[in-house]
Amino acid sequence: MNVLIVEDDSALGHFLDQGLKLDGHDVSVVTDGEAALESAARLRPELMILDLGLPRMDGIEVLAEMQQHFRSTSVLVLTGRAEMEERVKCLRLGADDVVMKPFSFHELRARLQALSRRRGQFADPVLRFGDLEMDRTQRRVTQAGCEVELTATEFTLLESLMRRRGERVCSRAELLREVWRMPLGAGAVAARTSRMDTNIVEVYINYLRKKLGRNSSAPRDASGVCHAVIRTVRGEGYLLDAPEERDLKAGTGNSPPDLTAIFALGGCVADV
Ligand code: CA
Repeated sequence: MNVLIVEDDSALGHFLDQGLKLDGHDVSVVTDGEAALESAARLRPELMILDLGLPRMDGIEVLAEMQQHFRSTSVLVLTGRAEMEERVKCLRLGADDVVMKPFSFHELRARLQALSRRRGQFADPVLRFGDLEMDRTQRRVTQAGCEVELTATEFTLLESLMRRRGERVCSRAELLREVWRMPLGAGAVAARTSRMDTNIVEVYINYLRKKLGRNSSAPRDASGVCHAVIRTVRGEGYLLDAPEERDLKAGTGNSPPDLTAIFALGGCVADV
C-alpha cells in the first residue's frame, strides 16, 4: 500500500518507515499536521498513520480534514492519549482504527493487514518483474514461462528482491534479516560474523543468478518483456533489474560494455 506516516517523533517515524518498507509498502513520512494534509493531497495515500500530538496542526484536526476531503484514505491513529473519550472521538471522526502507544510492530502490522482486507486490497499473491513471475501461494517461479526450481532460501531471497520491483537497492544487511532472520546487531560479535554473513548472501545471490541465467538466452521474450537480472550495486547491495535494450547491446556498440549486466546475464559468479 501507499502509506503516509505523520509522526513528529523522528525515531518512531524512522522505525515505522523502515519496518513498513521492508513489508513492501511505499512509505512517505511527514512530521507536522499541515504537511500531512499537503502530502495527502499530493500523494493520495491508501493509508495514513496519524499521530495526534503534532506541531502546526493537531492530529484531531487533521483527521477531521481527512474525513472532509480525502475519504478514500484509511486513517490509523497512533496515540499516547490514554483516555477512552479520545479514542472514541477519533473513531467518531472517521478513524479506521486506533492503536495505543507503546505498541509492538507485530500488532501494527496485523492491524494494517486487517485494514487492507477491509479495503478489499488483499496483497496480490503473484509478484511480477520483467520476465519473472512468482506465485507466493503455490511457491512457484517461472521465467519467460519456464519453471525455475528454487530452494526455500533462494525463493525467499528472490522474493525480497522482487518485492522492491527494481525501485530500491536491497542491502546485504536487509537480506540477512529477511532471508536468514539474522538480527541487525552491532559490536564484537557482529564484527566477527559479518564477513561470513556477507559471504552467505553473495553465495546465494550467485546460485540465483545461475538459475535465472539458464533461461536468459534472449534479452526479451516475444512480447518484448525484458529479462530480469540481479545487479550488484557496489557498496550498497543488490537490485533486481530488467535492463533496457541499450544495456544489452552495450557489448556490441561503440559505448563500453556494461559489465554488471553482462556478468549477471551469464550467471557469472564474479561480484563486480
Ligand atoms: Ca507526537
